Amino acid sequence: MQSFQPPRRILMGPGPSDVSPRVLAALARPTVGHLDPAFQDLMEEIKAALARLFNAPGHACVPLPAPGTAGMEAALMNLLEPGDRAVIAVNGVFGGRMVDMAGRAGAEVVRVDAPWGQPVDVAAVEAALASGPAKVLAFVHAETSTGVRSDAAALCALARRHGALSIVDCVTSLGGVPVDAAAWDADVLYSGTQKCLSAPPGLSPVAFSPRALEAVAARKSPVRNWLLDVSLLMSYWGGEGGRTYHHTAPINALYGLHESLVALFEEGQQAVFVRHARMHEALVAGLEALGLEMLVAPEHRLPQLNTVRIPEGVDEAAVRARMLERWDLEIGAGLGPLKGQVWRIGLMGASASPWHVRLCLTALADALS
Ligand code: PLP
Repeated sequence: MQSFQPPRRILMGPGPSDVSPRVLAALARPTVGHLDPAFQDLMEEIKAALARLFNAPGHACVPLPAPGTAGMEAALMNLLEPGDRAVIAVNGVFGGRMVDMAGRAGAEVVRVDAPWGQPVDVAAVEAALASGPAKVLAFVHAETSTGVRSDAAALCALARRHGALSIVDCVTSLGGVPVDAAAWDADVLYSGTQKCLSAPPGLSPVAFSPRALEAVAARKSPVRNWLLDVSLLMSYWGGEGGRTYHHTAPINALYGLHESLVALFEEGQQAVFVRHARMHEALVAGLEALGLEMLVAPEHRLPQLNTVRIPEGVDEAAVRARMLERWDLEIGAGLGPLKGQVWRIGLMGASASPWHVRLCLTALADALS
């Protein structure tokens, strides 16, 4: 075997995004023990920073030691028990994944579909909630498979009105557009580090409201997956009784997340959102100047995930391959029913810069010519 030397790529797909040099440098700092007092201070800072980022001052916020899918699994497996009714909105791949998971938890799933490329249908969700008591309403805030933002405030309000706990997938939204657990009165939110936080993949920040934790405490049966049992996790991350060993935290990955949060707050959350919005506007203007069309109506677009229709007669995979070969630039393909229909261009975190926008437009024009 020889040391692995990855090629240098520019990451403008649906995630992971470019990791900034300061985060890469943080990952290479010396590993300490997970019970080291210095590491415990870092854990406290990460919890506080996540609570600020989710705007979830009363929630228990920790990063799970696994990718975004683990956050989804933790949310559903902790809140759902066999026979519970769960309303799940589906307008892309990730809502579908939630349906699969909730079924595996033994829940009675009421699936509410909306067309891919459209936001979650709030009226249809309301009808599903009104048709019988549900324990959970789950939906994706920023659907990465389509580039659509759904109305999290309206959906969480519906959950509250119908006595359901809300689960909000913020994997692609956190750090790119406002996420506001307090204003939405949301119960469980989860994200991933590899999108707008621009840290490597492998961690999933989650936030559980006091109401959600009460529901977990009132379960009739133990949570089925031990690693993601939120009560055990919270006792490792420091509850009133101190820390109890649960697993060995991915120490260097947490240095990376910490550094990405330091960078985000140095820039300022508002400035970060404005940067994503401006880069999105510049990219869309450039794409339209190339004669390309966007999939999603302007009012539902995510700045950090841009779905572009593939023109007639274009071999979409060949274009992506040319961009990678000639420019070292990665964009994403369509998924599910959008396979072969769209490209997905990410402007996430460190990849939302004027340099990235210019390079992507140049590379795309070159690959199309
Ligand atoms: N939810 C959404 C909206 C996503 O975009 C993703 C990943 O792209 C996930 C969940 C799953 O995250 P991961 O791939 O980190 O497990």
